[in-house]
Amino acid sequence: MNDAYRTSKIMNSQNHNWLHDQTFNLLIDYYPEIAVRPYGSGATRENLIKWLKPLDLGYVCIYAKGHSGRTTYHSPLGTTHPQLSRDMPQIFREVADELGIKLVLYYSGLVDGIAALRHPDWCMLDYDGNKTTALDASKQNTGDGSHAELVRTFMLYPLCPLSGYFDEWVSTQLEEMVSYNPDGIWIDGDWPGPCYCHRCQDRFRAETGHVGKVPLHSDNTPGGRAYRQFFVELTREWRMKLRNRIHALKPDCLYSSGNINTHCDSTPALDWRSGDFFSPRLFRVLQSCAMRRYTNQGVPYDAYTVDTAFVHHRVDRPSRTKTMQRMLQEGAGVLANGGMWGYWTYPMPNGALIPSRMRQAATAREWTREREDVCKGTDPVAWTAILEIEPHHTIANDTNSWGACKALIELHRSPQIIDDSQLSINMAHDLLIVPDQAALAEAGPEIFETLKTWVENGGKLLSTGTSIDNPAMQEILGVKLVNKAVISEGHILLPNGEPASAMQNWDRVETTDAESWFPLYHSWDDENIDMRHFAKNYPMDGVMDEENPHDAGFPAATLRRLGKGIAAHIPAAIFAEYWAYGEAPLRRWIGQMLDELQPEPLFSTDALCFVEVALRQKDDRLLIHLVNGNPGRDLACSWTDDLVVDDIPPVGPIECRVRCGEKPQTVTLEPGGENLPFEFAEGVLTVSVPRLEIHSCISVSPWRAP
Ligand SMILES: [Zn+2]
Repeated sequence: MNDAYRTSKIMNSQNHNWLHDQTFNLLIDYYPEIAVRPYGSGATRENLIKWLKPLDLGYVCIYAKGHSGRTTYHSPLGTTHPQLSRDMPQIFREVADELGIKLVLYYSGLVDGIAALRHPDWCMLDYDGNKTTALDASKQNTGDGSHAELVRTFMLYPLCPLSGYFDEWVSTQLEEMVSYNPDGIWIDGDWPGPCYCHRCQDRFRAETGHVGKVPLHSDNTPGGRAYRQFFVELTREWRMKLRNRIHALKPDCLYSSGNINTHCDSTPALDWRSGDFFSPRLFRVLQSCAMRRYTNQGVPYDAYTVDTAFVHHRVDRPSRTKTMQRMLQEGAGVLANGGMWGYWTYPMPNGALIPSRMRQAATAREWTREREDVCKGTDPVAWTAILEIEPHHTIANDTNSWGACKALIELHRSPQIIDDSQLSINMAHDLLIVPDQAALAEAGPEIFETLKTWVENGGKLLSTGTSIDNPAMQEILGVKLVNKAVISEGHILLPNGEPASAMQNWDRVETTDAESWFPLYHSWDDENIDMRHFAKNYPMDGVMDEENPHDAGFPAATLRRLGKGIAAHIPAAIFAEYWAYGEAPLRRWIGQMLDELQPEPLFSTDALCFVEVALRQKDDRLLIHLVNGNPGRDLACSWTDDLVVDDIPPVGPIECRVRCGEKPQTVTLEPGGENLPFEFAEGVLTVSVPRLEIHSCISVSPWRAP
C-alpha cells in the first residue's frame, strides 16, 4: 500500500464515506431523451417498492438530467421533459427513505443538447472548428436512413468546460438537484474533447507561450501531447468546480464522474470512482482493467454492468435481456476486484421496473450477499503493475496499458494499473510493465532515477515501443535506439516452433549493456514487394519463412541485469495488438518472458487463460479470487451478431500455488467455508479447487507475504 493510497484511504474513512459499506447498487437507465413518451407514469410508489425492496440496495441511481439536457424534474431553466408525469427525484427520494437506502442522481456533465442549442457559443469545437456533435464512432449509425440517429436522439452535443455553461446552467441545476437531498451525484458525459474553441486555444497559448496554430492532440507529437495534457488539466478543473459546488450545497453529498481517467494525485476530486460497462459492445475484461486501475486510488469504486444487450451499431436489433449467467459472470469480475457491483437495468418506456429483469437482479443480489465477506473491504496484493502516464481525459483509450493489463490477467499475474505518482524505489511490486508510454519522452529525470533504483533493488521492468524514446530510459535498458519504425511486422519463434507475430512498427535497437533476448524475424512479404498489392487479410500475407528464418538484424527483446533486478525491452507496441486481437502465440511469448523474469512467482496456477485471478487481502487473509470468464460458445460468428453468453461451462480442478512467509493454518473455499486440503513445502502453498462455476475464492489464513 503506497503512501498516497494510505493517506487517501484514511481521509476517506474519516469522511465516513457510506459507500465503504455497500456491495450491491442499482442504476435505472431511464433516459429522458425520448420526448414523445410519457416520462415516469409507470414509476409508482407501489411498483418501485415491490421490486426494489428485495434488492436490499446500498443506493439506487436515477436520472436527474440526461445527455439531451432534459430534466426529470421541473427546472426554471425550461429543460423539463415535455411529458414529465412525475417528479422523479421526489418519488425516488420518498421510496429510498421508505426502504432505508441511499439515492444517487445521474447528471450529464459536459454533454447537454438543450444548452448547446440555446447557447451555440458554449459548444465544444473540433480541430477544424466544427461543433463536435459526433463524439464516438460507435454512436454513429451507419445504416441507410438512420445516419447519426443516436446523436440526434440523445442530442449528444458537448460543451466547452471554459464556457458560461457552468455558471449559467450547471450551477443552477445542481442547486435544484440538491434540494431533493441526494446522497450522491454521478456525472456522466465528462468524456468528450479536447475542445479547440477560441477560449481553449487562448488559454493554451497563454499557458504555454505557443504561437500560431495549436497542435492536434492525436498526432502523438510533443505538441499534440501537450494539448492532450492541457485538456486533461481543464477537465480536472471542471471536476473540481463540480465537486466544490456540490459540497458547498450539501457537504455529505458524494460526487463521482464516470468513465474518466484520472491521475492518482487528482483523485481527491472524486468521492468514488465509477464507470459503466456494457457488453457485448465492450470487453468483460475492460471492466476488470478499470477495477484494477481504481483499486489503488484510495476511494470506493464501482462498475455498472447492464442487464440489456444494447449494441450501438445494431440499429435493427431490439435490445434483449442478457442471461442471468452472464450478469453473474460480469458482476463477479467487479466484486472479485474489490468493486461495488452496480446492477444496471432498463425499465419500461413509462418507467415501471420490468419484473423478469428485477427477478434476475434479486438473484444477483443474493449471489452477491453470499460473497460479501470475501469481496467487501479488500485491498489489492501488490505484485505486478502496469505504468500508465499518458494524458487521457477518458478511460480505455490507452490500448497499450489496457492490453498489458489484459495479457497479465490472462497470464494470472493479477496486475494493477498505476501512474507515476505511485512509483517509488520501495514499491512492493515485483514486476512493472511500461507499455508504449510516449509521454516518457518528456518526463523529468526523477521518474527514471526512481525506475533505475527500483530495478537495482530487485524489480523487473519490461518496457515496449516508444517508452524507450528518452535517453535516460535507454540507459536503464542498456539499449540504444537507432531507427524508429524500421519494419512494420515482425515474428518471434517460440520454443515449440510456432511463430508469435505483431503487425506493429518495430524500432531498430542496439544493445549497449543489455543482451539480445529473442531474435526478430522478417515477414516473407518484406522481400516480396508484390505482396503490397494484396490486402493485409489475404491468408498468404503475414507469414515468416520458418525453415529459413530471415533475421531482422536487431532483437525482438533485450534483457539487462541491473543490480538485483532486470530491465527488458520490446521495441514494438505489442500490447496494443494484444488488446485488439488477443493472439494466443503473442500471449504465450509474453508468458515465456514473464516466466523468465519471475522464475519464483508469488502465484501460479494451471488455470486456463479465461480464468481471471484477483489476489486480494483482508485483515490477515489472502483471498485468491477465481472468475470463470468462459463465454461458453463460439463468439466469432462472422456475419452474425450472435454474442449471447448463456451456459457457462464449469472448469476444474484448478491447482494454485502461492508463496507464503509462513505456513497458513486454514485454507477454505468461499462462499461456503469448506476446508480445502493443502500442501506446504519450501514456502509454497499448493491447493486445488475441484470445480469452478462462475466465481469462487480461496481464503488463506493467516497469510504473510514472503
Ligand atoms: Zn473550449
